[in-house]
Amino acid sequence: MPQRKRIQVSGIVQGVGFRPFVYRLAQELGLTGFVRNTTSGVDIEIEGTQTDIDRFLHFLQVRKPIAAVIDRLDVTPMILHHTRRFEIRKSTRREGYTRIAPDIATCEDCYRELYDPKDRRHKYPFINCTNCGPRYSIIQETPYDRSQTSMRSFVMCDECTAEFADVSDRRFHAQPDCCVICGPWFVLHDLRYGTVERENAIEKAADLIRKGNIVAIKGIGGFHIACDAMNTRAVQRLRKKKKRPAKPFAIMCDLMHARKIVHISKHEEKCLRSAIAPIVVMRKKQRDIISDRVAPNNPYIGIMMPYAPVHYVLLETIPYYVMTSGNVQDEPIVKDEDDVKLKLGSIVTHALTHNRKIENRCDDSVGFVYPSRGFSIIRRSRGYTPNPVELPDSVPPMLALGPYLKNTFTLARGYDAYVSPHIGDLDNMETLAFFQEMIERYQEWFRIEPEFLVHDLHPEYLSTRIAQEYKKPRIAVQHHIAHIVSCLGEHRVKSKAIGIAYDGTGYGLDGRIWGGEFFIGDLGHQERVAHLEYLPLPGGESSIRRPYRIAIAYAAVLCKKTFRPKNVPMTEVRRILNILNDQQFSIETSSMGRLFDCIAGMIGIVREITYEAEGAINLEHIAGSTVSSYYPYTLFDEEPLRIGVAPIIHGVMRDLLKGVRPSTISAKFHATIVHFSLAVVDKMSTIHGIRNVCLSGGVFQNRLLLSKMVAVLEKAGYKVFVHKRLPTNDGCISYGQVIYADKRRMIDKPIGQGNVKQ
Ligand code: ZN
Ligand code: ZN
Ligand code: FE
Repeated sequence: MPQRKRIQVSGIVQGVGFRPFVYRLAQELGLTGFVRNTTSGVDIEIEGTQTDIDRFLHFLQVRKPIAAVIDRLDVTPMILHHTRRFEIRKSTRREGYTRIAPDIATCEDCYRELYDPKDRRHKYPFINCTNCGPRYSIIQETPYDRSQTSMRSFVMCDECTAEFADVSDRRFHAQPDCCVICGPWFVLHDLRYGTVERENAIEKAADLIRKGNIVAIKGIGGFHIACDAMNTRAVQRLRKKKKRPAKPFAIMCDLMHARKIVHISKHEEKCLRSAIAPIVVMRKKQRDIISDRVAPNNPYIGIMMPYAPVHYVLLETIPYYVMTSGNVQDEPIVKDEDDVKLKLGSIVTHALTHNRKIENRCDDSVGFVYPSRGFSIIRRSRGYTPNPVELPDSVPPMLALGPYLKNTFTLARGYDAYVSPHIGDLDNMETLAFFQEMIERYQEWFRIEPEFLVHDLHPEYLSTRIAQEYKKPRIAVQHHIAHIVSCLGEHRVKSKAIGIAYDGTGYGLDGRIWGGEFFIGDLGHQERVAHLEYLPLPGGESSIRRPYRIAIAYAAVLCKKTFRPKNVPMTEVRRILNILNDQQFSIETSSMGRLFDCIAGMIGIVREITYEAEGAINLEHIAGSTVSSYYPYTLFDEEPLRIGVAPIIHGVMRDLLKGVRPSTISAKFHATIVHFSLAVVDKMSTIHGIRNVCLSGGVFQNRLLLSKMVAVLEKAGYKVFVHKRLPTNDGCISYGQVIYADKRRMIDKPIGQGNVKQ
């Protein structure tokens, strides 16, 4: 008995070759009907026997194109139409709004053609198909059609046109489809002499790098700065020029070469080879293949696979490239040729660029595989954006402006939260311009006109002022509440949980700087129930750069002792103590990040940090693995409960005097945090009867702490939630802001039309 079914598919099903896939599948199974794009996904109607329809539904999910993501499949029975064939129908674009796919790494079929001497795209560095290639980075306006992308200036040749129109071709409706005759091309600029070469531009650039030069390379979401990772002098020169003395660089190489320098688990391999092709931070092998200056004093290194055809061609010349973002210090990644000389001219001598414009810049995404939980994202950009992250409840049109550092914003409506790519630190003009430009684009693309604005609680933050300019009702959300709610929201946890936010800095509800906080609550109500005790930052936030200052201050305040860290002159110690005596020169913080800095400063592993959390990161890396003891601490029964760290500082000082190894001190310190965290959780759980625990905050990028915390809490019978779809750092804030503000707007009155002072 033939039947007819309607199948509505939602998710990432447009711009990823879904319709031709459906078409071929229906042909294969002898089903009739049609497929078409709609505003919310893909609509399919099929007719055939029950068995064939069941097989169709099964294959739809297991054989879907690599970049496709199916969120929902709704199947409804229909009356028979007795259709005779299967066809691809024109899209219905009633609201003119469709999703945009993220940029997708070169697929295996395209790779094969790239290296097939008989193929007309042999070695053509812009090869792509319905399964791969640029999407997000080339789109200007929606819907996603070639004429709305930066491919619009390239008129397709006859052969490409034929492919594009042929439903059986794997380039059917591949918007960026092109070839050597009709598509874009690479050129090599010599920035010193202003000359430009087109012939063999990529090979020449690779050769320059092989000879030790530093070259800017235009990729998918922006420029990379590249050098030979095996050439220590080149890497060292790049460090000097980029003013980046120690922060690890990422490497690009193929899988075979990656295996020579890092340990790769099955899961890590899967991430590396995925359509997202992120930088995966993995454990180094003890081998001297690449320069030790790439990731100095670091047991880990970040590796990404080639994800654009040009990368494959480059890798023919040398096996390992340092590929670092083409930017100056904290500014956004450079995406236009015109900026290369201006911004990167002092770093690179040459630029390998092409004439396909990058419309939307997008950094490489970064993360690591955390054994029992999968891929943990550190930076969510290329390959992810602009995919929405699902919200636990439907919201009205809203815009959350995110945090001050590591900014992302989120534009939301219904169940969709469009979390922006990594924007950066909102402390320079360039980043701010990027921030505002992307907000405008997101509003246009997704047709969301926000009714509410959400911003951080900090009255001085730029984002607070920007929110005011919208002249719309706005709501302020505390930074660490946003952290916890973000993690709960990702997991759709609607009941109460104990939230632990271990973080660097966030403006607290009491006007002080928070960062070591415990909460109890749900998506719409959070109460701070415990925190690390407040301690002074001598001279304010500037002491974050010099961890030893924090060590001196904490020792003075907590232990009434003059502590002189290794290699710090007594005059400097006295200066810090003087600053401490005058309260107006210090701010107080309950930050866990600062406690890490303090211990790093006491041990003396870093004097002045050159990148964020360098002290804490070094502390994690030196930790020994065989230590089971911990330092004592105090829990002061106050409301909120206060965690006293004086015994910890005492203990570390005593160990230092006894000559205990730094690796032991670090391990004991990590164990201490886990110990008091569990003690606080136990206490709260007993009082409130809650067994869910949720972890968020930048400190949980510390793999050692994260794994120990999760293990200990789970062993004690708690259900532990950690971030999965967003970073645990401030990249998750704007998403949490949306959720909390949406719930609070019913309870608190949003601040008026932007003219009411907070
Ligand atoms: Zn492809
Ligand atoms: Zn062509
Ligand atoms: Fe934070």
